[in-house]
Amino acid sequence: MSIAVVGSSNIDFAARVAKLPKPGQTVPAKEYISGPGGKGCNQALAIARLGVSPVFISKIGDDALGRQLVTSLAAEGIDTSHLIIADAAQTGTALISIDEAGENMITVVGGANMTMTRGDLHEKQDYLRDCDYLLLQLECPVVAVDCAIKYAREGGAKIMLDPAPVPDHMVMRDLLALTDIVTPNSTECRAMTGIEPVDEASAKKAAKVLHDMGPKTVIIKMGREGAYYSTPDMSGLVASFTVSAIDTVGAGDCFNAGLAVALHNGQALPDAVRFACATGALATTRNGAGDAAPTLDQVLALLEPGS
Ligand code: ADP
Repeated sequence: MSIAVVGSSNIDFAARVAKLPKPGQTVPAKEYISGPGGKGCNQALAIARLGVSPVFISKIGDDALGRQLVTSLAAEGIDTSHLIIADAAQTGTALISIDEAGENMITVVGGANMTMTRGDLHEKQDYLRDCDYLLLQLECPVVAVDCAIKYAREGGAKIMLDPAPVPDHMVMRDLLALTDIVTPNSTECRAMTGIEPVDEASAKKAAKVLHDMGPKTVIIKMGREGAYYSTPDMSGLVASFTVSAIDTVGAGDCFNAGLAVALHNGQALPDAVRFACATGALATTRNGAGDAAPTLDQVLALLEPGS
């Protein structure tokens, strides 16, 4: 049994600027960093660093950035044979500017990610039927996400949905009805439930709204406040780990990867959420998205200092 990830892959270009440009303005930056991004790719890379080889199904362009992604993923030991090459679309990119206060401006070119079809998933159905967890986000067309869910459920997999970006209400309802584990962050939680999760009481209220839409397991990622988990049998708030955060991009993706790996390895939910919090916390101590993921040893060291 494996963990499958169906989702986006981008190459990110990030530049630090003194002040974000206004419309029509040009601002200088000293340098840029470029590396893998896209929620699917971030989650797949983080799973690989945690020692599990994911089945990563994603669509890239037949171009230099696509080849850069293949090289980066292969270097992390990920089987790149499940990457699908689009006929006539560019590899997804994110153009990111970050100012001194940490505020950012991001333009995402969905490119090949937005051309993923049911047919693409049909080709991969055996792998989807064979996984125990399927991780999804919403940076690919919903029809493709839907189709991946169908095959994975036929094989008995648990569906873990990261509802980012949050789609319109009807689409969300349809997807949540097929989801086992939903993992919104605070912003997504507020968009989906109208409730801002700021503490255990408000997270509990929001979780109830989400349970009513289908998922038996609700996990709300609350940044520095940690994460709240809720099932019909148990619930609780797991505190975050104290780290020196410098860049929170990718924390949520690393959290989901940590959660999937821990559950796949047979950990109980509260322990798995703690493992996920440690993975997310470590991601904030490094720049970048896909490259921010910690290794298994680093996560274990944070969970059990001195061991
Ligand atoms: P997202 O990246 O999707 O916005 P969060 O910011 O909630 O999601 O981060 C995901 C998880 O990463 C949190 O639930 C928490 O466990 C961990 N995390 C995020 N920011 C911090 C932080 N500043 N310090 C410690 N842990 C953090």
